[in-house]
Amino acid sequence: MGTSKAHIKAPPGFKEKLEILHDYLTAHGLRNTHQREVILAELLSFGQHVTTEELWDRVKAIDSSIGYATVYRTLRLFTECGIASKHDFGGGSARFESDSGHHHDHMICTQCGKIIEFENEEIERLQDEVAASHQFKINSHRMELYGLCSECHD
Ligand SMILES: [Zn+2]
Ligand SMILES: [Zn+2]
Repeated sequence: MGTSKAHIKAPPGFKEKLEILHDYLTAHGLRNTHQREVILAELLSFGQHVTTEELWDRVKAIDSSIGYATVYRTLRLFTECGIASKHDFGGGSARFESDSGHHHDHMICTQCGKIIEFENEEIERLQDEVAASHQFKINSHRMELYGLCSECHD
């Protein structure tokens, strides 16, 4: 394949995310590259919570000219422009997920590393209530619960 451009299979949400990325790059005087598009497509099709290493594994199978550093820098770019978020769930490697536009929180199994997504309206409401009682204005929040998943405890 060499330097020929790999065909991008556009996963759901790709076009919208790409538009946000383009706007951000234009506003910052940066050029879009085919490599960034390959990385974005793979991030979206991988699903959630991928490490830089895992994503690079998939990306280089599509375009072998893409190095680890490019994936690393591109993921940072994605978090800056708001199309992905970065999590440090422990275990040594940061994990990235594309923003679904739908808020959720995480439970992380400290034994097998499984990540469970959840949302709970009551918790969200209570957070607003607590913040209001401190005249605090919440812009965003993250909740991470650490423990053992159903397969790792009796
Ligand atoms: Zn577990
Ligand atoms: Zn998540």
